[in-house]
Amino acid sequence: MKFGTKTIHAGVHPDPVTGAVMTPIYQTSTYAQSAPGEHQGYEYARTQNPTRTVLENNIAALENGKHGICYGSGLAAMDAVLKLLNPGDEIVSTNDLYGGSYRLMTKVYQRYGIKSTFVDFNNLDDVRNAISDKTKLLWVETPTNPMLNIVDIEAVCSIAREKGILSCVDNTFASPYLQNPLDLGADIVLHSATKYLGGHSDVVLGALVTRHEELAEQFQFFQNAVGAIPGPQDCFLVLRGIKTLHLRVERACQNAEKIALVLKASDKVGKVYYPGFTDHPGHEVAKKQMRHFGGMVSFDLADDRFELAVKVLSNTKIFTLAESLGGVESLIGHPASMTHASIPREERLKVGLTDSLIRLSVGVEDVEDLTTDLKQALEQL
Ligand SMILES: *Cc1c(COP(=O)(O)O)cnc(C)c1O
Repeated sequence: MKFGTKTIHAGVHPDPVTGAVMTPIYQTSTYAQSAPGEHQGYEYARTQNPTRTVLENNIAALENGKHGICYGSGLAAMDAVLKLLNPGDEIVSTNDLYGGSYRLMTKVYQRYGIKSTFVDFNNLDDVRNAISDKTKLLWVETPTNPMLNIVDIEAVCSIAREKGILSCVDNTFASPYLQNPLDLGADIVLHSATKYLGGHSDVVLGALVTRHEELAEQFQFFQNAVGAIPGPQDCFLVLRGIKTLHLRVERACQNAEKIALVLKASDKVGKVYYPGFTDHPGHEVAKKQMRHFGGMVSFDLADDRFELAVKVLSNTKIFTLAESLGGVESLIGHPASMTHASIPREERLKVGLTDSLIRLSVGVEDVEDLTTDLKQALEQL
């Protein structure tokens, strides 16, 4: 099956009882047994739920994996990966990273004796040198947030294999339509399904995909033993969202490309960060490992002032000022005061995250309305 067929059909079958074409929401906490221990594979809904099973099989197929395991949020999924480690183990991670992932590593797992080191994954020697005999996990995010740097997944996962450690790629920003890390050598793929998979900004959910039997068993064990599972209604919403994933992401990519060009041509704009530009340092790698360049665009202002960025954010009418990404609607955000406010200014500036940096999650609206909206907001400066 090709991708667009898998989004709709993989793992999904008409309901055997009624023939319902769409997967029912099995809103139940328990299942009847005909005799003690005699059941149809479902005992208690923390352990298994049929709506969740369908979603898990569907996401596994989208990532060319064998096992999908869903959790109540992207961070709950990440928590399950970090629970594979023991006190004394270490993580080597990309340095330009989702804030919540950084917080989970440094503010929670550090307390349990699991240390994380953050390095620039564009320098493969730095990645190699950061790995010690305590390192058990390589954590990769690409494209990164909000600078849209690109990491060569195949290259860093081959380092992980060479060193005998696990690799996990957070594929949230690309979505499985654009990039499939398992095919490039990753052991585990993570999704915040809250973003492109759900696609309508109406649900919070997370997923892991792997081809390794033992890892899948561990992750299923954590679903049951820890309990950070998604409810059936949320699984249904993500299943429904995925049916149009390829259409939505395709359109978002087309819109993002046009918007990046409009921004580049504006004298109010400073730098535009978009992996589709041939002068983007990650362009060649992006071309190699992604189907398109994604729906995210970041830019700063020619006059790099915090107040001016705030003005742009308040002036847009179609772009909504909000956190998150990957929905059908276009969103605009200001990392310096929102998602990355806890990072010291000097640290931010080092990676190019200036006071006026603005991040766009481009939606699937008519692109003329989006570019008109941005132009009028910039003209008011
Ligand atoms: C949102 C996000 C997460 C966390 O996912 P939640 O569903 O919000 O818990 C992790 N990684 C990336 C890249 C994200 O954008």
